[in-house]
Amino acid sequence: MGNYTITVLPGDGIGREVTDQAVRVLQAIASRYGHSFTFHHALVGGAAIEAEGDAISDATMEQCQRSDAILFGAVGVPTKPGTNQQIKPERSLFRLRKGLEFFANLRPVRPFKALLNASSIKPEVLQGTDLIVVRELTGGLYYGHMEPGIPGKPSEIRETDKGYEAIDTLLYTEGEIERIVRTAFDIARGRQKKVTSVDKANVLSSSVLWRRVVDRVAADYPDIATEHLLVDACAMHLIRRPSNFDVIVTENLFGDILTDEASMLASSMGMLPSASLGTRKTEHGIFGLYEPIHGSAPDIAGQDKANPIAAILSAAMLLRHSLSLPREAEAVEAAVEACINEGYRTEDIQEEGKKKVGTQEMGQRIAAAV
Ligand code: ATP
Ligand code: MG
Repeated sequence: MGNYTITVLPGDGIGREVTDQAVRVLQAIASRYGHSFTFHHALVGGAAIEAEGDAISDATMEQCQRSDAILFGAVGVPTKPGTNQQIKPERSLFRLRKGLEFFANLRPVRPFKALLNASSIKPEVLQGTDLIVVRELTGGLYYGHMEPGIPGKPSEIRETDKGYEAIDTLLYTEGEIERIVRTAFDIARGRQKKVTSVDKANVLSSSVLWRRVVDRVAADYPDIATEHLLVDACAMHLIRRPSNFDVIVTENLFGDILTDEASMLASSMGMLPSASLGTRKTEHGIFGLYEPIHGSAPDIAGQDKANPIAAILSAAMLLRHSLSLPREAEAVEAAVEACINEGYRTEDIQEEGKKKVGTQEMGQRIAAAV
C-alpha cells in the first residue's frame, strides 16, 4: 500500500483515447492492491498550443517534476495546408525528454504467442523473439530544430543564391554515448547477456566514435557478448531472425526507425510500449516517462479503433520502474495476455474468427481481468 502521484499527458488524436484506457487499468490496480494513485491531467501538444499557446507550459513541466512518473499519450496534429505553424506539437515531447534528461528509451518487443499468426511475418520466424531496443533519446539529429540557433548544432533551412539548402547536425559526445551504452549493458546482465550495437560506422563519424565507446565499455562487461551491426543490415536481420537479438543499443533516429519496424514482430504499432528514463530517483523508484511507441494516428482518431494495449503495457512499465511495483506490473501484463488469449482484438490485430472490440471495450476488459 502506498501513495503515488502520476502526471497524465494524453496529448492529441488517439493519444487521448489510449491514455484513458491505461488510466482505467491503473485504477483497477489501485483498488485491487489497495494503493492510492493521484492522477494530475495536463494538456500537451496540439491541444496545449490551442488552449495555452505553447506545446507544453512551464506549469505542466513543474507538475511533471513533482510527480513519481509521467504517463504520456501521443502528440501531433495534421498540418493544415498553407499554414506555417511556428510551434510544433512535438516540441512538448522534446522539451520533456531533454528538460527532464530522459536519455534512455527502452522498447521491449516480445510478441504474444496468441498473436503469432496475426503478424505479417511467419510464426516460425517470430518464435522465441524477446528483445529490447535501448534507444538514445536526447542527442543525435533530433535536437537542432528544438531551439533554433543553438551554437554548434545547426538545423535549419536557408536560402542561398542557388536556391534553398537544409542542414541537420548529428552530434554525440563521448559522455552521451557512454551513459546509454552502459544502460544497455546493465540491462543485458538481467537478460540473455548479449548486446548488439547498431550504427553506420562505414559512413558516419558519430558512429565511429559510438563503436569506439562501445568497445571500451564492453571491456567492463566480460560476461556479456557484444556485436556491432550496421543499421541497414540490422533492419534486414530484424525481420529475418528476430530471435537472435537480446539487447539492441542505438542512436536516436536509428532507434526510432528500427522500433517502428520491430512493432510488426508484435503484429501492430498498437502493441509496443516504452519507458524513457534518466538517472533521477524519486522516493519510490526511477523517475520516468511512459508512452506507446506509436504517434497520434489522425487517420483513426475519434473512431474508437485505436489499440490501447501499447499504452496499457506502458503503464505496466511505469508500475515496474517508477513505482517499484513488479507484482502489479505483472498483473497488468497477465490481464492483457488473458484478453488476447480469450480472442478479443482491436482492428489492427484482428484475425478471422476472433472477437472484434473497440478501444474502450478492450480497456474495460483488461481492467476487469486485473
Ligand atoms: P510519429 O511521427 O508520432 O512517430 P507516425 O507518423 O509514425 O507518428 P503513427 O501515428 O505512429 O504515425 O501511426 C502510423 C499508423 O499506424 C497510423 O496512421 C495508424 O493507422 C496505425 N496505428 C498507430 N498506432 C495505432 C494503434 N494504437 N492502434 C491501431 N493502429 C495504430
Ligand atoms: Mg513513428
